[in-house]
Amino acid sequence: MVKIGLKFKASLENIKELNSKDENFRWYLKFSCSECSEESDKWNYLSLNEVVDSYHRVVSHFVCKCKSCKRVNTVTIIEDSLKAYTAEDEGTFKTIAVFDCRGLNPIDFKPGEGWIPRIK
Ligand SMILES: [Zn+2]
Repeated sequence: MVKIGLKFKASLENIKELNSKDENFRWYLKFSCSECSEESDKWNYLSLNEVVDSYHRVVSHFVCKCKSCKRVNTVTIIEDSLKAYTAEDEGTFKTIAVFDCRGLNPIDFKPGEGWIPRIK
């Protein structure tokens, strides 16, 4: 089990804060398998309201079987780790989410829709 934080940096224009704390928010990530290094070529998304029961009886938000080594890997969003990116953070990197990765390494992130902005 490896906890990997997502560091985020943005320029905010007339926005006080950007929040991802919504159960429908989707994190778009690409992964590589930590067993065989196979990289996913498509975007996968994780969302708090889409829970998969992995066979370890641990709640996960993403489960996939590696095409190459056939290992079943999981990722869980650590809900308490979700932080808003605020006007005070502008221009600096801030860890806004932490993922509990079992057998996968996040290699890319794409900001999608669903951010909750707070206007100044
Ligand atoms: Zn693999």
